[in-house]
Amino acid sequence: MEHTAIKFDNLHKYYGKVHALSGLDFEVKKGEIFGFLGPNGAGKTTTIRCMLDLIRPSKGQIEILGMDPQSDPQGVKQNVGYLPGDLNLDGNFTARGYLKYIRRIKKESRSPEEFNELARRLDVPLDMKIKSLSQGNKQKVGLMQALISKVPLLLLDEPTLGLDPLMQQEVLNIVQEEAEKGTTVFFSSHILSEVQKIADRVGIIRKGVLVEIAETDSLINRAITLATVSFSEEVPESNFVHLPDLVILRVNDHQKSYTFEIQGEVDHFIKTLAKFPVRDLAIHRPSLEEVFLKYYRGEKVEN
Ligand code: ATP
Repeated sequence: MEHTAIKFDNLHKYYGKVHALSGLDFEVKKGEIFGFLGPNGAGKTTTIRCMLDLIRPSKGQIEILGMDPQSDPQGVKQNVGYLPGDLNLDGNFTARGYLKYIRRIKKESRSPEEFNELARRLDVPLDMKIKSLSQGNKQKVGLMQALISKVPLLLLDEPTLGLDPLMQQEVLNIVQEEAEKGTTVFFSSHILSEVQKIADRVGIIRKGVLVEIAETDSLINRAITLATVSFSEEVPESNFVHLPDLVILRVNDHQKSYTFEIQGEVDHFIKTLAKFPVRDLAIHRPSLEEVFLKYYRGEKVEN
């Protein structure tokens, strides 16, 4: 059985002279939630649009559920729930009418009960005209149409854009429930806390290049931790200099107070501290946000 849901092979996209994607080469496994991150203009939307053959890559191959979007765009579209980033709903019909239409053209639609439950959870004003909906409510309708049929793959371009915090959480819950049922989810986002909450793996794209791909937890674990320690007596530096992956940044108060930088796991460091009378200890673990900011700014990231 094929275990790959999405495969990029040396994908390039030029818009005139702009090299929007430069050689994307990675895979997304079936059943995983993959967070696709990067600053504005990095190439996220371009990547997603190539996956649906809405635009054509300049070079390279894509495989979606074993299909080539260029030779079988209908096959891909039938099997993918897609939320566009530039969702532009502006009809004179109601949300219910619009979704009814989408239901008809998709295969394997959800049952009316499932549809109503989804609309209830997302609090979609089904009987209002689409053009008079607020931006957030349009986004919910967009999510409904992406989720309207039972598909093996969801491609969501910024799924929580414009939603209030409670609704953002509900969307994440829904996405997670879909993944638990075996659906693969590929989503782009700027909200790092939500990526941290639900993504199994993340890929970071910057200027069209994938600069990192890793399990979400491992990205955080391998980042640098800062620790400030006060001892109730003098503790010579010689006790710490031999520890691997530890750097002494500052020593104050006659070797009673230290600031350390720890690379990776903190276990060894904590056990060393425990040999001395610790008065106070403050540990600063970086959030995913801090880890990503380094990538976003293009700083060197320690490994
Ligand atoms: P954002 O987070 O702001 O949505 P993104 O990561 O989705 O950004 P893309 O929209 O894929 O980025 O854009 C990638 C690059 O390609 C940018 O430099 C953008 O200006 C350029 N670009 C995108 N669409 C076009 C187009 N139709 N014509 C010319 N250049 C384009």
